[in-house]
Amino acid sequence: MVKANGVTRGRFAPSPTGTLHVGNLRTALVAWLGAVSAGGEMLVRVEDLDRANSSVEKELRQLADLERIGLTFPRSVWRQSERFAIYDSIVDDLSSRGLTYRCFCSRKEIRDAVNAPHGRNPDGIYPGTCRDLSDREIADRMAKGRPAAIRLRTEAETYSFDDLVLGEVEGSVDDFALRRNDGVPAYNLAVVVDDAQQGITQVVRGDDLASSTPRHLHLQQLLGVTTPRYAHVPLVVGDDGERLAKRHGAVTLDDLAAEGISVEEVVSVLLESLGLPGSLDDARSVFRWSAITTGAWTIPRRWQTRQP
Ligand SMILES: [Zn+2]
Repeated sequence: MVKANGVTRGRFAPSPTGTLHVGNLRTALVAWLGAVSAGGEMLVRVEDLDRANSSVEKELRQLADLERIGLTFPRSVWRQSERFAIYDSIVDDLSSRGLTYRCFCSRKEIRDAVNAPHGRNPDGIYPGTCRDLSDREIADRMAKGRPAAIRLRTEAETYSFDDLVLGEVEGSVDDFALRRNDGVPAYNLAVVVDDAQQGITQVVRGDDLASSTPRHLHLQQLLGVTTPRYAHVPLVVGDDGERLAKRHGAVTLDDLAAEGISVEEVVSVLLESLGLPGSLDDARSVFRWSAITTGAWTIPRRWQTRQP
């Protein structure tokens, strides 16, 4: 266990499944500024649970891109792929406390249940299909060789938290998976365990994860660990209003360099989009959470070089 001793410790936790785009880099800038401007540090954690699409080559490129925009961080990064035994032991502990159950649903079954006219969970959350299976039904499914996920047994608890960017956020918790049916630890478990064990006090990430945060708060309570402060940064979008993607044009540092746009200019535009002066040193001395707007930010037109 790493103790932060009252010092702000932030983290940026990319998945090494591709190249970081300017939306990712903008969130990384906020994570770094939020920690460093408070006299703390930012760690980088590699969230490579998705082994099929992750690679060391992509990881190294992501770390290099973070350094290219001027961010400093310890190079000894944690990789989730090296921590499966730790996640498994925590799932086993929760199971021994009677807090989990086996779920044999396929993705399709969950989707169909959710779409049912009288579905319990219209918001696409787990409908609880396997919650009350009898021992016999469980044995039956196991005998047929159906793989089981492990889900947390919850009571639709509601949590609210004071987000540094979004303000008051409230949401409820479903019976989310702790381990997928292919044996891989679930993101929602790994992220909570890692933030706690790394002594993270400030979590900065995209606002697409804000709705998962109540799950994390619930798990923190069950595990008896401290809840960090959260800052969910709004999405970066293309001129069509859709979440930034390759099709929007030059969206990585290399793409932009090929268009004659330097790293310094990219950093400067990203910082200004956050209501900050365009150099990292200046931004660091005046950084304020309140300057970050809660709406999506559209990349500059001249970065959008896609074919007509
Ligand atoms: Zn199920």
